[in-house]
Amino acid sequence: MVHNAKFSAGSLVFKFPVPEAIPISGADFVIVSKNDVAISNGIKPTIFSSTNPANSQNPAMRVQYLGHRDATACYAVEIAAGTALPADWEYSGVRELFGRIPEDELAIAALAVQIIDFDRTTQFCGFCGAKTRQLRTERAKFCSDCNQITYPRLSPAIIVLVEKEDQILLARSPGFPPGLHSVIAGFVEPGENLENAVQREVREEVGIAVKNIRYFGSEPWPFPHSLMIGFLADYAGGEIAIDKKEIVSAGWFSCDNLPQIPSSLSISRALIDGWMERRNLLSSKSGSL
Ligand SMILES: [Zn+2]
Repeated sequence: MVHNAKFSAGSLVFKFPVPEAIPISGADFVIVSKNDVAISNGIKPTIFSSTNPANSQNPAMRVQYLGHRDATACYAVEIAAGTALPADWEYSGVRELFGRIPEDELAIAALAVQIIDFDRTTQFCGFCGAKTRQLRTERAKFCSDCNQITYPRLSPAIIVLVEKEDQILLARSPGFPPGLHSVIAGFVEPGENLENAVQREVREEVGIAVKNIRYFGSEPWPFPHSLMIGFLADYAGGEIAIDKKEIVSAGWFSCDNLPQIPSSLSISRALIDGWMERRNLLSSKSGSL
C-alpha cells in the first residue's frame, strides 16, 4: 500500500541556479502572511496568483523560490500582516485549505509557509552571528564570514499503529479535542534510529513493548518542520501504563468500538484506515469459508 501523502510537494522541481530577478508576472505566486496563505474564492479556488502581490506600496517582506511546476516558476511571497488582498481573496491557515484546493496545491501551500519560515529564522548565521545570504545553487543560506551553510530544518517524528490481535492501541494527548484518540507519535532523538524511536515512544507513553516494526509510509508535516514516518508494529508485552504528562488515556480498540479518530488529512488516519481495510478483508474472507 502506498501512502497518499497530503503534504508531499513532489510536483515541484527545484531548478538551479535560481533566477536572480523575481518576475512581476508569468509565475505562480503564493501569498504568505505569517503562517497563513491567501486563497481566491472564485469558482475554482486557488492559492496561485499570476501577478506578484508585492508593489511599491506593499513591498514584499521576503520572497522564496519554491520550484517549477512544469515550465512555471513558483514563488512564496510574504507580505505584511493585514495587507489588503484583491477582491475575492482571503487568508487561511494551511490545514483549513484541505478539501478546498487540489492536494498538490495544498502541499505547495504548506511548503510556502515552511520555506518562508526558513527564510525568517535564518537571517543570521547561527555560528558567528553575521548576516547570511541566500544561495542560488541550493535551498540554503550562506555565511561569507565563516563559510557556514544553513539548510531548512527538518524534525523527523515517528508515528506508529500498534496491533494486538484484532485491536489497535489508541491514546489521547492532553491537547486533543474532547473524545479524539490517535496512534502514538513522537520526535526522533539524536542517536536513535527510527525503530529505536518507535520502541521508546510506545514504552514511554503507554508502557508496553512492541515488535515486528514495519515501515508504512511518510508525510511531510510542515507545522512547522516535521517529517512524519509511519510504522506498523505488533504488541510484544506489558500492560498499559500511561505517562500522564503526554497522554491522558489509552486503550485497545477494535473495529466496532473505535472512538473519534483524526481527520483524513493526517497519516495517523491513513494508518487506522489501512488497518480497518485489512480487518474487513480478513473478516470477509473468514466469513466466506
Ligand atoms: Zn557565520
